[in-house]
Order: sequence, then C-alpha cells, then structure tokens
Amino acid sequence: MFQTSVANYLNKHHYKRIELKAALFDMDGVLFDSMKGHAIAWHESMKQYGMHLEPSEAYEHEGRTGATTINLISMRERGREATEEEIKAIYKKKCDIFNSLGAAPRMPGALEILTKIKSAGITPVIVTGSGQTSLLDKLNNNFPGIFDPNLMVTAFDVKFGKPNPEPYLIGLKKANVQPYEAIVVENAPLGVRSGVNAGIFTIAVNTGPLPDEALLKEGANLLFHSMEDFNNNWENFYTAIRD
Ligand code: MG
Repeated sequence: MFQTSVANYLNKHHYKRIELKAALFDMDGVLFDSMKGHAIAWHESMKQYGMHLEPSEAYEHEGRTGATTINLISMRERGREATEEEIKAIYKKKCDIFNSLGAAPRMPGALEILTKIKSAGITPVIVTGSGQTSLLDKLNNNFPGIFDPNLMVTAFDVKFGKPNPEPYLIGLKKANVQPYEAIVVENAPLGVRSGVNAGIFTIAVNTGPLPDEALLKEGANLLFHSMEDFNNNWENFYTAIRD
C-alpha cells in the first residue's frame, strides 16, 4: 500500500526516489490536540464582533492565517473586508479565548514519531499558520530538543499562507532541501493542498471531524486516522520509500 502511494508520487513528478532529509509538520491538529479549542475560540470571537462562524466551519478554514479567515468571514457576514484594526482586535480576542481554555494536550503519538524521525537523522520542521507568540515555548515544553527555532515557518514568515504552497516552499528553503527530500504531515484540507502544490509527498492525518474524502480530494498521498496510527506504521513507510 505504501509502495503504491510512493510510486504514484514519483511518477507524477518524474522523481527517481524520495531521499528523506526533512519532515515538515503542521502544528495544530497534528502535534497538539488543539483544534476543538480553536473552533470554539473562532466561534466566540466572531460572535463578539457580530459575525457568525459555526465551530465546525473552523475546520474548513484551518491552515489559513488569522487575517485571511477574518476577512473571508467579514466579506460573507458584512459584505466588506475587515480593517487592519479589526483584524488585530478579533485575532487578539480569538487568541485570548483560546488561551483561556487551558493548554492543549500533546497529540498522542506525536512525540513518539518525532523521536523516531529525529533519530533517523531526518530534520523536523514546523510549518504552521499560527501566529501565537508563545509557540516556541509550547513546542520546547512538549517536544524538548526536537525542533530548531530557526527551522520554523509561522504566520510571521508568510505573505499568503496555506492553501498557497508558499509556507511549505519556505519550509523547504529553511531546511535547505528539495521537494523530493521531504514529507509533509498535515491534518487540514487546505494544508494538504499547500503541501501537494509545493510538490512534496503529503501525509494526511485525519484527527478531526471532516470526512477522509476532504483530505484525499486535495491530493493527500497517504492518510492515517491518528498520529498513533502514523507512528505505528512509520517503519513500514520508511522502508517503502527506501526500497
Ligand atoms: Mg493543522
């Protein structure tokens, strides 16, 4: 099953093989079980500004920068984009509500697979649409010694954000690798689209309420139902790409 997925990817891009040097990880819904909190925070913050966003809709926008999400909802609900001031205020409110819910737990299986990847000599890189200032501390506390602070792409690095391939292309550049030397690990449809369009083998981990099809139709090369599932299959996958 993994061999077929890898062969399809190689054929599509006319690559000979995946020479894995870097693993590009999305953060929310992949490394942290944080999406429920984000969905509540989006719903509540928008409500306070007179706009409606169902908590479930937050999963469809996941991966976008905060500013893009706010503008999209503002266009729909008010027929105009949000001002710079509104964007700052709403995003701050959203972060305050998210933080008030308490720290999101580490995703089960995430530390285990990161430890395996790191000890195989593969460089883990963070590629997130998040712009939380406490992000680095949070990563260091939950994944000590795993991530290099210079190898992170956040909302502060990007102009477009996911689903544009830009964030993953910046991730490749920071890690100094080619698309065929990396994998992407994503839980969100728009994140999968970003990774696929960056030309990288993209692994979807469906940790949320959306159907698998939402991730597969964006071109995910493989799909697991949890990070534990991915962790349990890591050895088989790593063997398949080296065959
Ligand atoms: Mg995510």
